[in-house]
Amino acid sequence: MTSPASRRGVVYLVGAGPGDPGLITVRGSELLENCDAIVFDALANPILVARAKSTRAARHPSGNSGQGHHALELHDVGKRGGSSESARQDEITALLIALATSGKRVVRLKGGDPFVFGRGSEEAQALAAAGIPFEIVPGVTAGIAAPAYAGIPVTHRGMATSVTFVTGHEDPSKSESQVDWEAIARVASTGTVVLYMGVKTLPSIAIALLKGGLAGDTPAAAVQWGTHPRQRTVVATISTLAERAAAEGIAAPVITVIGKSVALREEIAWFESRPLFGKRLVVTRATTAGGTLADRLRILGADVLEAPVTTIEPMYIGPIDRAVANLARYDWVILTSQVGVRLFWDALGRAGLDSRALHGVRVAAVGPATQTALSDRGVTADITPDRFVAEGLLATLQADLAMRTAKVLYATAKDSRDVLPKGLRALGATVDVVAMYKSVPDRAVGAMLKSAIDAAEVDLVIFASGSAVEGFVELVGEKRVEQLRAASIGPITSATAREYSIVVVAEARESTIDSLIEAVVGADLTVPPA
Ligand code: SAH
Repeated sequence: MTSPASRRGVVYLVGAGPGDPGLITVRGSELLENCDAIVFDALANPILVARAKSTRAARHPSGNSGQGHHALELHDVGKRGGSSESARQDEITALLIALATSGKRVVRLKGGDPFVFGRGSEEAQALAAAGIPFEIVPGVTAGIAAPAYAGIPVTHRGMATSVTFVTGHEDPSKSESQVDWEAIARVASTGTVVLYMGVKTLPSIAIALLKGGLAGDTPAAAVQWGTHPRQRTVVATISTLAERAAAEGIAAPVITVIGKSVALREEIAWFESRPLFGKRLVVTRATTAGGTLADRLRILGADVLEAPVTTIEPMYIGPIDRAVANLARYDWVILTSQVGVRLFWDALGRAGLDSRALHGVRVAAVGPATQTALSDRGVTADITPDRFVAEGLLATLQADLAMRTAKVLYATAKDSRDVLPKGLRALGATVDVVAMYKSVPDRAVGAMLKSAIDAAEVDLVIFASGSAVEGFVELVGEKRVEQLRAASIGPITSATAREYSIVVVAEARESTIDSLIEAVVGADLTVPPA
Protein backbone atom coordinates (compact mmCIF):
# COMPACT_ATOMS: atom_id res chain seq x y z
CA MET A 1 0.00 0.00 0.00
CA THR A 2 2.71 2.50 0.93
CA SER A 3 5.59 1.18 -1.13
CA PRO A 4 7.90 3.96 -2.35
CA ALA A 5 6.60 3.56 -5.91
CA SER A 6 2.96 4.16 -4.99
CA ARG A 7 3.91 7.16 -2.85
CA ARG A 8 5.26 9.04 -5.82
CA GLY A 9 3.07 11.98 -6.68
CA VAL A 10 1.27 12.27 -9.98
CA VAL A 11 -1.13 14.73 -11.59
CA TYR A 12 -4.11 13.59 -13.64
CA LEU A 13 -5.49 16.27 -15.94
CA VAL A 14 -9.08 15.07 -16.02
CA GLY A 15 -11.93 16.31 -18.17
CA ALA A 16 -15.06 16.62 -16.00
CA GLY A 17 -17.36 16.77 -19.02
CA PRO A 18 -19.70 19.62 -19.84
CA GLY A 19 -21.86 19.63 -16.70
CA ASP A 20 -24.18 16.62 -16.55
CA PRO A 21 -22.33 14.55 -13.91
CA GLY A 22 -23.02 11.39 -15.91
CA LEU A 23 -20.80 12.66 -18.72
CA ILE A 24 -17.46 12.21 -16.96
CA THR A 25 -15.48 9.20 -18.23
CA VAL A 26 -15.21 5.97 -16.23
CA ARG A 27 -11.48 6.61 -15.90
CA GLY A 28 -12.04 10.13 -14.62
CA SER A 29 -14.58 8.99 -12.11
CA GLU A 30 -12.31 6.20 -10.79
CA LEU A 31 -9.51 8.69 -10.31
CA LEU A 32 -11.82 11.04 -8.39
CA GLU A 33 -12.68 8.19 -6.06
CA ASN A 34 -9.09 7.24 -5.37
CA CYS A 35 -7.04 10.43 -5.47
CA ASP A 36 -5.62 12.38 -2.52
CA ALA A 37 -6.38 15.88 -3.77
CA ILE A 38 -8.74 17.56 -6.24
CA VAL A 39 -7.97 20.94 -7.80
CA PHE A 40 -11.11 22.07 -9.61
CA ASP A 41 -12.45 24.87 -11.82
CA ALA A 42 -15.67 26.83 -11.84
CA LEU A 43 -16.97 24.88 -14.83
CA ALA A 44 -16.40 21.41 -13.37
CA ASN A 45 -19.72 20.37 -11.83
CA PRO A 46 -19.44 20.66 -8.00
CA ILE A 47 -21.59 17.52 -7.73
CA LEU A 48 -18.59 15.48 -8.91
CA VAL A 49 -16.44 16.90 -6.11
CA ALA A 50 -19.20 16.43 -3.51
CA ARG A 51 -19.54 12.80 -4.61
CA ALA A 52 -15.84 12.14 -4.30
CA LYS A 53 -16.10 13.52 -0.77
CA SER A 54 -19.10 11.43 0.21
CA THR A 55 -17.51 8.26 -1.20
CA ARG A 56 -14.69 8.82 1.30
CA ALA A 57 -17.21 9.44 4.08
CA ALA A 58 -19.03 6.19 3.27
CA ARG A 59 -15.74 4.30 3.34
CA HIS A 60 -14.74 5.81 6.68
CA PRO A 61 -17.98 6.66 8.50
CA SER A 62 -16.25 7.63 11.72
CA GLY A 63 -14.04 10.13 9.92
CA ASN A 64 -11.10 7.95 10.76
CA SER A 65 -8.71 7.75 7.86
CA GLY A 66 -6.63 4.78 8.91
CA GLN A 67 -5.46 1.87 6.76
CA GLY A 68 -3.19 3.96 4.60
CA HIS A 69 -5.99 6.17 3.22
CA HIS A 70 -5.44 9.91 3.18
CA ALA A 71 -8.09 12.47 3.80
CA LEU A 72 -9.26 14.13 0.58
CA GLU A 73 -7.85 17.58 -0.01
CA LEU A 74 -9.97 20.03 -2.03
CA HIS A 75 -8.76 23.16 -3.80
CA ASP A 76 -11.31 25.39 -5.51
CA VAL A 77 -9.34 27.47 -8.01
CA GLY A 78 -12.39 28.61 -9.94
CA LYS A 79 -13.15 31.78 -8.01
CA ARG A 80 -12.49 34.91 -10.05
CA GLY A 81 -11.22 38.20 -8.76
CA GLY A 82 -8.06 39.53 -7.17
CA SER A 83 -5.11 38.40 -9.21
CA SER A 84 -4.87 38.63 -12.98
CA GLU A 85 -5.63 35.60 -15.12
CA SER A 86 -2.01 34.74 -15.81
CA ALA A 87 -1.08 35.12 -12.13
CA ARG A 88 -3.91 32.74 -11.31
CA GLN A 89 -2.67 30.24 -13.85
CA ASP A 90 0.84 30.42 -12.33
CA GLU A 91 -0.60 29.84 -8.86
CA ILE A 92 -2.51 26.82 -10.11
CA THR A 93 0.51 25.19 -11.70
CA ALA A 94 2.58 25.93 -8.59
CA LEU A 95 -0.11 24.27 -6.47
CA LEU A 96 -0.19 21.18 -8.71
CA ILE A 97 3.58 20.84 -8.55
CA ALA A 98 3.65 21.31 -4.75
CA LEU A 99 0.94 18.70 -4.17
CA ALA A 100 2.55 16.14 -6.46
CA THR A 101 5.99 16.77 -4.98
CA SER A 102 4.64 15.92 -1.54
CA GLY A 103 3.66 12.50 -2.90
CA LYS A 104 -0.04 13.10 -3.57
CA ARG A 105 -2.14 11.71 -6.37
CA VAL A 106 -3.74 14.86 -7.69
CA VAL A 107 -6.78 15.17 -9.93
CA ARG A 108 -6.81 18.45 -11.80
CA LEU A 109 -10.48 18.56 -12.74
CA LYS A 110 -11.36 20.80 -15.67
CA GLY A 111 -14.67 21.48 -17.38
CA GLY A 112 -15.25 19.64 -20.65
CA ASP A 113 -12.02 18.36 -22.16
CA PRO A 114 -8.74 19.52 -20.61
CA PHE A 115 -7.11 20.19 -23.99
CA VAL A 116 -9.97 22.10 -25.61
CA PHE A 117 -9.62 25.78 -24.68
CA GLY A 118 -8.96 24.69 -21.13
CA ARG A 119 -5.29 25.63 -20.69
CA GLY A 120 -4.71 21.99 -19.79
CA SER A 121 -1.84 21.87 -22.26
CA GLU A 122 -0.12 24.77 -20.50
CA GLU A 123 -0.42 22.90 -17.20
CA ALA A 124 1.01 19.79 -18.87
CA GLN A 125 3.95 21.86 -20.17
CA ALA A 126 4.66 23.15 -16.66
CA LEU A 127 4.44 19.63 -15.19
CA ALA A 128 6.73 18.25 -17.88
CA ALA A 129 9.25 21.01 -17.20
CA ALA A 130 9.13 20.28 -13.46
CA GLY A 131 9.59 16.54 -14.05
CA ILE A 132 6.23 15.65 -12.45
CA PRO A 133 4.56 12.54 -13.89
CA PHE A 134 1.16 13.28 -15.37
CA GLU A 135 -1.65 11.71 -17.37
CA ILE A 136 -4.34 13.23 -19.56
CA VAL A 137 -7.89 11.95 -19.23
CA PRO A 138 -9.93 13.45 -22.09
CA GLY A 139 -13.47 14.60 -21.46
CA VAL A 140 -16.66 15.30 -23.36
CA THR A 141 -16.23 18.84 -24.60
CA ALA A 142 -19.02 21.41 -24.26
CA GLY A 143 -18.72 22.23 -27.96
CA ILE A 144 -20.15 18.82 -28.88
CA ALA A 145 -22.26 18.07 -25.80
CA ALA A 146 -24.14 21.38 -25.45
CA PRO A 147 -25.34 21.24 -29.08
CA ALA A 148 -26.21 17.54 -28.67
CA TYR A 149 -28.34 18.29 -25.61
CA ALA A 150 -30.03 21.04 -27.63
CA GLY A 151 -30.80 18.56 -30.43
CA ILE A 152 -28.11 19.89 -32.77
CA PRO A 153 -25.64 17.43 -34.34
CA VAL A 154 -22.29 19.03 -35.16
CA THR A 155 -22.00 16.94 -38.32
CA HIS A 156 -24.77 15.59 -40.52
CA ARG A 157 -24.51 13.76 -43.83
CA GLY A 158 -25.09 16.14 -46.71
CA MET A 159 -25.55 19.11 -44.40
CA ALA A 160 -22.43 19.60 -42.30
CA THR A 161 -19.27 17.84 -43.46
CA SER A 162 -16.88 19.42 -40.99
CA VAL A 163 -16.86 20.93 -37.53
CA THR A 164 -14.60 23.78 -36.42
CA PHE A 165 -14.00 24.82 -32.82
CA VAL A 166 -13.19 28.51 -32.48
CA THR A 167 -12.48 30.72 -29.51
CA GLY A 168 -14.54 33.89 -29.31
CA HIS A 169 -12.21 35.22 -26.67
CA GLU A 170 -10.52 37.53 -29.12
CA ASP A 171 -12.69 40.32 -30.44
CA PRO A 172 -12.48 40.41 -34.28
CA SER A 173 -12.95 44.17 -34.24
CA LYS A 174 -9.61 44.48 -32.42
CA SER A 175 -6.46 44.31 -34.54
CA GLU A 176 -4.69 41.61 -32.47
CA SER A 177 -7.25 38.86 -33.27
CA GLN A 178 -5.42 35.70 -34.34
CA VAL A 179 -8.52 34.04 -35.76
CA ASP A 180 -8.89 34.03 -39.55
CA TRP A 181 -12.60 34.96 -39.65
CA GLU A 182 -12.73 34.81 -43.45
CA ALA A 183 -11.64 31.18 -43.33
CA ILE A 184 -14.21 30.49 -40.60
CA ALA A 185 -16.94 32.12 -42.73
CA ARG A 186 -16.02 29.76 -45.60
CA VAL A 187 -16.22 26.55 -43.51
CA ALA A 188 -19.49 27.68 -41.92
CA SER A 189 -21.31 27.42 -45.25
CA THR A 190 -20.65 23.66 -45.60
CA GLY A 191 -19.89 22.71 -42.03
CA THR A 192 -20.59 23.65 -38.43
CA VAL A 193 -18.73 26.33 -36.50
CA VAL A 194 -18.75 26.02 -32.71
CA LEU A 195 -17.83 29.09 -30.74
CA TYR A 196 -16.48 28.91 -27.18
CA MET A 197 -16.29 31.93 -24.86
CA GLY A 198 -18.04 34.12 -27.39
CA VAL A 199 -21.15 35.71 -25.89
CA LYS A 200 -19.81 39.21 -25.38
CA THR A 201 -18.00 39.20 -28.70
CA LEU A 202 -20.91 37.67 -30.62
CA PRO A 203 -22.03 40.94 -32.28
CA SER A 204 -18.62 41.63 -33.83
CA ILE A 205 -18.05 37.95 -34.67
CA ALA A 206 -21.33 37.91 -36.60
CA ILE A 207 -20.27 41.01 -38.52
CA ALA A 208 -16.87 39.46 -39.32
CA LEU A 209 -18.53 36.27 -40.60
CA LEU A 210 -21.01 38.19 -42.78
CA LYS A 211 -18.14 40.27 -44.15
CA GLY A 212 -16.33 37.00 -44.88
CA GLY A 213 -19.23 35.97 -47.12
CA LEU A 214 -21.41 33.80 -44.87
CA ALA A 215 -25.11 33.96 -45.85
CA GLY A 216 -27.11 36.08 -43.40
CA ASP A 217 -29.83 33.45 -43.07
CA THR A 218 -27.43 30.71 -41.90
CA PRO A 219 -29.03 29.12 -38.82
CA ALA A 220 -27.30 29.80 -35.49
CA ALA A 221 -28.04 28.89 -31.88
CA ALA A 222 -26.75 29.86 -28.46
CA VAL A 223 -26.82 27.15 -25.77
CA GLN A 224 -26.36 28.40 -22.22
CA TRP A 225 -25.42 25.99 -19.39
CA GLY A 226 -25.55 23.08 -21.85
CA THR A 227 -26.32 19.64 -20.33
CA HIS A 228 -27.24 21.28 -16.99
CA PRO A 229 -30.85 21.27 -15.75
CA ARG A 230 -30.88 25.03 -16.35
CA GLN A 231 -29.90 24.70 -20.03
CA ARG A 232 -31.44 27.35 -22.27
CA THR A 233 -31.32 27.50 -26.03
CA VAL A 234 -31.98 30.42 -28.37
CA VAL A 235 -32.26 29.73 -32.10
CA ALA A 236 -31.98 32.45 -34.75
CA THR A 237 -29.78 33.20 -37.76
CA ILE A 238 -26.24 34.52 -37.82
CA SER A 239 -27.65 38.01 -38.52
CA THR A 240 -30.11 37.98 -35.62
CA LEU A 241 -28.61 35.72 -32.94
CA ALA A 242 -26.59 38.35 -31.05
CA GLU A 243 -29.63 40.55 -30.60
CA ARG A 244 -31.96 37.65 -29.72
CA ALA A 245 -29.54 36.17 -27.17
CA ALA A 246 -29.06 39.55 -25.51
CA ALA A 247 -32.82 40.06 -25.35
CA GLU A 248 -33.20 36.68 -23.64
CA GLY A 249 -30.50 37.53 -21.12
CA ILE A 250 -28.20 34.74 -22.27
CA ALA A 251 -24.82 35.04 -20.51
CA ALA A 252 -21.76 32.79 -20.06
CA PRO A 253 -21.23 29.89 -20.17
CA VAL A 254 -22.54 29.71 -23.72
CA ILE A 255 -21.72 27.59 -26.75
CA THR A 256 -22.73 29.18 -30.04
CA VAL A 257 -23.37 26.87 -32.99
CA ILE A 258 -23.44 28.21 -36.53
CA GLY A 259 -24.40 26.14 -39.57
CA LYS A 260 -27.22 24.42 -41.40
CA SER A 261 -27.47 21.49 -38.95
CA VAL A 262 -28.85 23.87 -36.30
CA ALA A 263 -32.18 23.47 -38.11
CA LEU A 264 -32.31 19.79 -37.12
CA ARG A 265 -33.16 20.87 -33.57
CA GLU A 266 -36.77 21.18 -34.69
CA GLU A 267 -36.85 17.43 -35.29
CA ILE A 268 -34.55 16.02 -32.65
CA ALA A 269 -34.58 18.26 -29.57
CA TRP A 270 -35.03 15.93 -26.58
CA PHE A 271 -33.39 17.17 -23.39
CA GLU A 272 -35.53 20.19 -22.71
CA SER A 273 -38.74 18.20 -23.16
CA ARG A 274 -38.22 15.54 -20.47
CA PRO A 275 -40.97 15.23 -17.83
CA LEU A 276 -39.18 17.05 -15.01
CA PHE A 277 -37.00 19.37 -17.09
CA GLY A 278 -35.95 22.45 -15.15
CA LYS A 279 -38.07 21.56 -12.09
CA ARG A 280 -36.21 22.35 -8.91
CA LEU A 281 -36.67 19.55 -6.42
CA VAL A 282 -35.31 19.08 -2.93
CA VAL A 283 -34.56 15.51 -1.87
CA THR A 284 -34.45 15.19 1.90
CA ARG A 285 -33.36 11.59 2.36
CA ALA A 286 -30.23 10.74 4.32
CA THR A 287 -27.03 10.70 2.27
CA THR A 288 -26.52 6.98 2.61
CA ALA A 289 -29.67 6.18 0.70
CA GLY A 290 -30.38 9.40 -1.21
CA GLY A 291 -28.10 8.84 -4.18
CA THR A 292 -30.39 6.72 -6.27
CA LEU A 293 -33.53 8.82 -5.84
CA ALA A 294 -31.72 12.03 -6.72
CA ASP A 295 -29.99 10.43 -9.71
CA ARG A 296 -33.20 9.02 -11.08
CA LEU A 297 -34.95 12.38 -10.79
CA ARG A 298 -32.03 14.01 -12.58
CA ILE A 299 -32.38 11.58 -15.47
CA LEU A 300 -35.96 12.77 -15.80
CA GLY A 301 -34.66 16.31 -16.18
CA ALA A 302 -35.04 17.67 -12.66
CA ASP A 303 -32.67 20.13 -11.03
CA VAL A 304 -32.13 18.26 -7.78
CA LEU A 305 -30.87 19.80 -4.58
CA GLU A 306 -29.70 16.92 -2.40
CA ALA A 307 -30.39 18.02 1.13
CA PRO A 308 -30.28 15.14 3.58
CA VAL A 309 -31.78 16.86 6.62
CA THR A 310 -30.29 14.39 8.99
CA THR A 311 -27.07 12.48 9.20
CA ILE A 312 -26.77 9.05 10.76
CA GLU A 313 -24.84 8.71 13.98
CA PRO A 314 -24.16 5.23 15.32
CA MET A 315 -25.12 4.82 19.00
CA TYR A 316 -23.11 3.24 21.79
CA ILE A 317 -22.38 -0.33 20.63
CA GLY A 318 -22.82 -2.02 24.03
CA PRO A 319 -26.50 -3.01 23.66
CA ILE A 320 -26.27 -4.36 20.10
CA ASP A 321 -23.05 -6.23 20.92
CA ARG A 322 -24.78 -7.87 23.90
CA ALA A 323 -27.77 -8.81 21.74
CA VAL A 324 -25.49 -10.31 19.09
CA ALA A 325 -23.59 -12.27 21.74
CA ASN A 326 -26.95 -13.83 22.68
CA LEU A 327 -28.19 -14.22 19.12
CA ALA A 328 -28.99 -17.92 19.54
CA ARG A 329 -31.66 -17.06 22.11
CA TYR A 330 -33.76 -15.15 19.57
CA ASP A 331 -36.34 -16.63 17.22
CA TRP A 332 -36.56 -13.48 15.10
CA VAL A 333 -34.34 -10.58 14.15
CA ILE A 334 -36.17 -7.61 12.60
CA LEU A 335 -34.19 -5.03 10.65
CA THR A 336 -35.68 -1.79 9.38
CA SER A 337 -33.19 -0.08 7.04
CA GLN A 338 -30.04 -0.43 4.97
CA VAL A 339 -28.05 1.40 7.62
CA GLY A 340 -29.50 -0.94 10.23
CA VAL A 341 -28.35 -3.96 8.24
CA ARG A 342 -24.86 -2.49 7.90
CA LEU A 343 -24.56 -1.72 11.63
CA PHE A 344 -25.91 -5.14 12.57
CA TRP A 345 -23.23 -6.77 10.43
CA ASP A 346 -20.62 -4.51 12.01
CA ALA A 347 -21.71 -5.93 15.38
CA LEU A 348 -21.46 -9.48 14.03
CA GLY A 349 -17.96 -8.63 12.82
CA ARG A 350 -16.91 -7.32 16.22
CA ALA A 351 -18.05 -10.63 17.73
CA GLY A 352 -15.97 -12.53 15.18
CA LEU A 353 -19.15 -13.76 13.48
CA ASP A 354 -20.62 -13.52 10.00
CA SER A 355 -23.92 -14.28 8.24
CA ARG A 356 -23.77 -17.92 9.37
CA ALA A 357 -24.53 -16.79 12.92
CA LEU A 358 -28.12 -16.24 11.75
CA HIS A 359 -28.61 -19.90 10.77
CA GLY A 360 -31.15 -20.72 13.46
CA VAL A 361 -32.81 -17.34 13.51
CA ARG A 362 -35.54 -16.00 11.28
CA VAL A 363 -35.00 -12.61 9.74
CA ALA A 364 -37.60 -10.02 8.78
CA ALA A 365 -37.04 -6.90 6.66
CA VAL A 366 -39.40 -3.95 6.66
CA GLY A 367 -38.96 -3.03 3.02
CA PRO A 368 -37.29 -3.89 -0.28
CA ALA A 369 -34.15 -1.80 0.39
CA THR A 370 -33.57 -3.62 3.67
CA GLN A 371 -34.21 -6.90 1.87
CA THR A 372 -31.60 -6.05 -0.77
CA ALA A 373 -29.06 -5.09 1.89
CA LEU A 374 -29.66 -8.50 3.49
CA SER A 375 -29.32 -10.45 0.26
CA ASP A 376 -26.08 -8.54 -0.48
CA ARG A 377 -24.82 -10.30 2.64
CA GLY A 378 -26.08 -13.71 1.57
CA VAL A 379 -29.21 -13.73 3.71
CA THR A 380 -32.67 -14.17 2.24
CA ALA A 381 -35.25 -12.47 4.45
CA ASP A 382 -37.80 -14.93 5.79
CA ILE A 383 -40.44 -12.24 5.58
CA THR A 384 -40.90 -9.06 3.66
CA PRO A 385 -44.36 -7.61 3.97
CA ASP A 386 -46.73 -6.69 1.16
CA ARG A 387 -46.91 -3.16 2.49
CA PHE A 388 -43.51 -1.69 3.16
CA VAL A 389 -44.22 -0.07 6.50
CA ALA A 390 -44.19 -1.32 10.10
CA GLU A 391 -47.95 -1.97 9.99
CA GLY A 392 -47.51 -4.23 6.97
CA LEU A 393 -44.80 -6.26 8.65
CA LEU A 394 -46.89 -6.53 11.80
CA ALA A 395 -49.86 -7.84 9.82
CA THR A 396 -47.66 -10.45 8.18
CA LEU A 397 -46.03 -11.52 11.45
CA GLN A 398 -49.39 -11.74 13.21
CA ALA A 399 -50.30 -14.61 10.90
CA ASP A 400 -47.49 -16.65 12.44
CA LEU A 401 -48.92 -18.53 15.44
CA ALA A 402 -45.47 -19.18 16.90
CA MET A 403 -45.23 -15.44 17.46
CA ARG A 404 -47.11 -15.90 20.75
CA THR A 405 -44.06 -17.32 22.46
CA ALA A 406 -41.35 -15.86 20.22
CA LYS A 407 -38.31 -13.92 21.38
CA VAL A 408 -37.69 -11.04 18.99
CA LEU A 409 -34.71 -8.74 18.51
CA TYR A 410 -35.86 -5.46 16.98
CA ALA A 411 -32.67 -3.69 15.91
CA THR A 412 -33.53 -0.23 14.64
CA ALA A 413 -33.12 3.53 14.95
CA LYS A 414 -33.50 5.50 18.16
CA ASP A 415 -36.97 7.05 18.46
CA SER A 416 -38.38 4.89 15.68
CA ARG A 417 -42.14 4.27 15.74
CA ASP A 418 -43.21 1.59 18.26
CA VAL A 419 -46.00 0.01 16.18
CA LEU A 420 -44.11 -3.26 15.73
CA PRO A 421 -42.81 -3.90 19.26
CA LYS A 422 -46.19 -2.93 20.72
CA GLY A 423 -48.15 -5.14 18.34
CA LEU A 424 -45.86 -8.14 18.81
CA ARG A 425 -45.93 -7.78 22.59
CA ALA A 426 -49.71 -7.69 22.43
CA LEU A 427 -49.53 -11.11 20.76
CA GLY A 428 -47.40 -12.46 23.59
CA ALA A 429 -43.93 -12.13 22.08
CA THR A 430 -40.92 -10.88 24.04
CA VAL A 431 -39.37 -7.99 22.13
CA ASP A 432 -35.95 -6.49 22.81
CA VAL A 433 -35.69 -3.10 21.14
CA VAL A 434 -32.10 -2.10 20.44
CA ALA A 435 -31.36 1.34 19.00
CA MET A 436 -28.24 1.06 16.84
CA TYR A 437 -28.21 4.58 15.39
CA LYS A 438 -29.92 7.93 15.54
CA SER A 439 -30.60 10.70 13.07
CA VAL A 440 -29.24 14.12 13.95
CA PRO A 441 -30.00 17.42 12.17
CA ASP A 442 -27.43 18.64 9.64
CA ARG A 443 -26.95 22.40 10.17
CA ALA A 444 -24.93 22.99 7.00
CA VAL A 445 -27.77 21.55 4.93
CA GLY A 446 -30.16 23.79 6.86
CA ALA A 447 -28.34 26.94 5.76
CA MET A 448 -28.36 25.76 2.14
CA LEU A 449 -32.10 25.01 2.28
CA LYS A 450 -33.01 28.33 3.85
CA SER A 451 -31.31 30.32 1.14
CA ALA A 452 -32.87 28.17 -1.61
CA ILE A 453 -36.37 28.66 -0.17
CA ASP A 454 -35.85 32.38 0.40
CA ALA A 455 -34.72 32.79 -3.20
CA ALA A 456 -37.90 30.95 -4.33
CA GLU A 457 -35.74 28.27 -5.93
CA VAL A 458 -37.74 25.29 -4.71
CA ASP A 459 -40.61 23.87 -6.77
CA LEU A 460 -41.16 20.71 -4.75
CA VAL A 461 -39.75 19.07 -1.62
CA ILE A 462 -39.71 15.28 -1.53
CA PHE A 463 -40.25 13.52 1.77
CA ALA A 464 -39.59 9.79 2.12
CA SER A 465 -40.48 9.64 5.81
CA GLY A 466 -42.22 11.50 8.59
CA SER A 467 -38.90 12.00 10.32
CA ALA A 468 -37.59 13.70 7.17
CA VAL A 469 -40.50 16.17 7.46
CA GLU A 470 -39.69 16.79 11.12
CA GLY A 471 -36.00 17.19 10.36
CA PHE A 472 -36.73 19.56 7.49
CA VAL A 473 -39.02 21.76 9.59
CA GLU A 474 -36.54 21.78 12.44
CA LEU A 475 -33.77 22.95 10.13
CA VAL A 476 -35.53 25.70 8.21
CA GLY A 477 -38.20 26.78 10.71
CA GLU A 478 -42.01 26.49 10.70
CA LYS A 479 -42.63 29.85 9.05
CA ARG A 480 -40.57 28.99 5.98
CA VAL A 481 -42.25 25.67 5.23
CA GLU A 482 -45.81 26.99 5.13
CA GLN A 483 -47.25 26.67 1.63
CA LEU A 484 -44.21 24.86 0.26
CA ARG A 485 -45.25 22.14 -2.19
CA ALA A 486 -44.28 18.59 -1.36
CA ALA A 487 -44.44 15.01 -2.57
CA SER A 488 -44.61 12.28 0.03
CA ILE A 489 -43.97 8.55 0.21
CA GLY A 490 -47.31 7.77 1.86
CA PRO A 491 -50.24 8.88 4.02
CA ILE A 492 -48.36 8.94 7.34
CA THR A 493 -45.67 11.18 5.93
CA SER A 494 -48.28 13.36 4.19
CA ALA A 495 -50.19 13.81 7.46
CA THR A 496 -47.02 14.94 9.21
CA ALA A 497 -46.29 17.41 6.41
CA ARG A 498 -49.83 18.85 6.53
CA GLU A 499 -49.48 19.50 10.26
CA TYR A 500 -46.96 22.15 9.24
CA SER A 501 -49.15 23.59 6.44
CA ILE A 502 -46.95 22.05 3.79
CA VAL A 503 -49.04 21.52 0.64
CA VAL A 504 -48.82 17.86 -0.36
CA VAL A 505 -49.42 17.84 -4.12
CA ALA A 506 -48.37 14.22 -4.75
CA GLU A 507 -48.35 11.01 -2.74
CA ALA A 508 -46.85 7.62 -3.65
CA ARG A 509 -49.43 4.87 -4.10
CA GLU A 510 -47.05 2.36 -2.53
CA SER A 511 -44.19 3.05 -0.10
CA THR A 512 -41.43 2.55 -2.65
CA ILE A 513 -39.05 4.87 -4.42
CA ASP A 514 -40.47 3.81 -7.81
CA SER A 515 -43.91 4.81 -6.74
CA LEU A 516 -42.66 8.06 -5.23
CA ILE A 517 -40.94 8.98 -8.50
CA GLU A 518 -44.14 8.23 -10.39
CA ALA A 519 -46.01 10.56 -8.06
CA VAL A 520 -43.43 13.33 -8.55
CA VAL A 521 -43.68 13.05 -12.34
CA GLY A 522 -47.46 13.21 -12.11
CA ALA A 523 -47.50 16.18 -9.74
CA ASP A 524 -48.92 19.37 -11.17
CA LEU A 525 -46.37 22.02 -10.26
CA THR A 526 -47.95 24.76 -12.31
CA VAL A 527 -50.83 25.26 -9.89
CA PRO A 528 -49.83 27.76 -7.25
CA PRO A 529 -50.43 26.45 -3.73
CA ALA A 530 -53.62 27.69 -2.06
N1 SAH B 1 -12.44 22.78 -21.72
C1 SAH B 1 -13.81 23.20 -21.86
C2 SAH B 1 -13.93 24.61 -22.41
C3 SAH B 1 -13.36 25.64 -21.49
S1 SAH B 1 -13.48 27.27 -22.13
C4 SAH B 1 -14.54 22.20 -22.76
O1 SAH B 1 -13.91 21.34 -23.37
O2 SAH B 1 -15.77 22.24 -22.80
C5 SAH B 1 -14.93 27.83 -21.34
C6 SAH B 1 -16.06 27.95 -22.33
O3 SAH B 1 -16.59 26.67 -22.60
C7 SAH B 1 -17.24 28.74 -21.85
O4 SAH B 1 -17.04 30.14 -22.01
C8 SAH B 1 -18.31 28.25 -22.77
O5 SAH B 1 -18.20 28.81 -24.05
C9 SAH B 1 -17.95 26.79 -22.89
N2 SAH B 1 -18.70 25.94 -21.96
C10 SAH B 1 -18.21 25.13 -21.01
N3 SAH B 1 -19.21 24.44 -20.40
C11 SAH B 1 -20.35 24.84 -21.00
C12 SAH B 1 -21.71 24.48 -20.85
N4 SAH B 1 -22.10 23.58 -19.95
N5 SAH B 1 -22.62 25.09 -21.64
C13 SAH B 1 -22.26 26.00 -22.55
N6 SAH B 1 -20.99 26.38 -22.74
C14 SAH B 1 -20.04 25.80 -21.98
